Amino acid sequence: MSQPARSIIESRPASTSFVESIDPATGEMIGRFEAAGPDSVLEALSRAKRAQEGWAARPIAERCATLHKFRDLVFERRREIADIITRETGKPRVEALFAEILFALDTADFLAKRASRWLRAERVPHHNWALKSKRGWLASEPLGVVALITPWNYPFAIPVGQIVPALAAGNAILLKPSELAPWTGALIGELFDHAGLPKGVLQVLQGGAEVGKAIIETSPDKVFFTGSAETGRKIAEACGRKLIPSVLELGGKDPMIVLADGDLEAASSAAVWGGFTNCGQACLSVERVYVERGVAEHFIELCVEKTKKVRIGSAESADSDIGPMIREKQVERVETQLRDAVARGAKIVAGGHRKTAGACFFEPTVATDVNHSMKLMREETFGPVIAIQVVADADEAVGMANDSSFALAASVWTRDTKRGRDIAARLHAGSVMINDVASYYGITEAPHGGRGASGWGRVHSRLGFAEMVHLKYVDEERLPRFAKSWWFGYSEALAGAADRFIEILFAPSWKRRVKALVKGEGSLRTLIRKRDR
Ligand code: NAD
Repeated sequence: MSQPARSIIESRPASTSFVESIDPATGEMIGRFEAAGPDSVLEALSRAKRAQEGWAARPIAERCATLHKFRDLVFERRREIADIITRETGKPRVEALFAEILFALDTADFLAKRASRWLRAERVPHHNWALKSKRGWLASEPLGVVALITPWNYPFAIPVGQIVPALAAGNAILLKPSELAPWTGALIGELFDHAGLPKGVLQVLQGGAEVGKAIIETSPDKVFFTGSAETGRKIAEACGRKLIPSVLELGGKDPMIVLADGDLEAASSAAVWGGFTNCGQACLSVERVYVERGVAEHFIELCVEKTKKVRIGSAESADSDIGPMIREKQVERVETQLRDAVARGAKIVAGGHRKTAGACFFEPTVATDVNHSMKLMREETFGPVIAIQVVADADEAVGMANDSSFALAASVWTRDTKRGRDIAARLHAGSVMINDVASYYGITEAPHGGRGASGWGRVHSRLGFAEMVHLKYVDEERLPRFAKSWWFGYSEALAGAADRFIEILFAPSWKRRVKALVKGEGSLRTLIRKRDR
């Protein structure tokens, strides 16, 4: 295990405050990072503005070369990065490698290859004959300084997935990592420094909500927030007051629909992995399962059997499938939801308790006999719990799946391709997977984002890149010597000519259009002759 990337051990003025990195498995402090004060946030914004101009002026090939260097550094230092993520979040090493590092490498690689094509001006052909003398195009310009406020659950992949396109587009960035994952945040800053990113283009501002608020107060050009729906509302309000555009990637309550013709072996393994990966602390966790009555008993048996085989323990042991939850407060939230569910008739058929090994270790849990009166089916759980509700048929499953304020992702399990696609079309969600869960997040071409309480805007893919640029429409007149027929100098003749022109373009039959054209020769001349205005 390496030393903290920028752990502050030396003396600092008494007024300096710190953010501590805590190992959730032991409660031990493993690093301390200087928190940004209100003045330093303002200074960071001015520094970012200055740095952004130079960065955006660099050729795109040069900006992409920095992304390649970052990719190579992540590759070289991947084991050390995995150590830090594992220690700070408690997630198993396999997950740090697959869900964080592999994703970051692929994003940097993909964007470095695609950005120059995506930034090219795009022609906007004009279909209207009245406007054929013009040509237009869309230019992609940097936004300026973007703020990224990020959560702790994927502390490497989420910021990197947004920093990379922001940099490719020519922006400067203020990154506020979660106060629960400051070490990973500092490490990201260090990796980009080593990749040769000019000073000031990416600044990591450590701290909690107060630093996030202070960043928004400085009026960055756009805010990208990833976190809970509760905080998302506050961010939307703060941005709204200042008319700052935002992208909000919020929580989920993802449903999984298991139809009677689905592959139950695969579906049960996916439910168990999807419900418990990262100890259930993923926005794309499978939290609600709706299974058709005919196969419900067998499906539940499979889920219980597989849940009992999930190994819980310190993430540093290679044999652990799930580690600790991030903090005891999170464990209490899961317990509250389970108590409420049991009081309303739910049965806990696997797990349901803390492990004595440590306060933050919670057993992977399966609940059945659940319904939508329970918090467990309405609020985000964000812990290792899958709740299974038996439904009569696919229609009831779709109705239940859509009965939620969240709409991030969903999945449907069936061997019938057409049925799968039909159900996907009926689900309220930003993304739907047919016969898999959550893994679309790792597809760099796939947009990610939700609707309703799951937020707005998109990250990843070309659509996520489009969120990082200002699209400017430019139009060029090719015949500027001619006065426009719609300019002043109105007359009865011009009104008649305009009427005839509309008839030529939009009369409901071709016969009428041709007739108007033949008769309207003089009118067209009226339109064209207005060159002296
Ligand atoms: P959180 O909302 O508590 O905090 C997220 C970030 O916002 C942190 O950096 C925090 O310091 C900052 N913050 C808190 N209050 C703020 C305020 N008033 N102003 C400005 N910044 C503020 O979320 P969390 O506990 O870190 O993360 C878990 C949540 O994130 C879950 O709900 C999860 O579903 C969601 N999440 C969503 C996605 C997605 O892509 N949709 C991905 C990961 C996590």
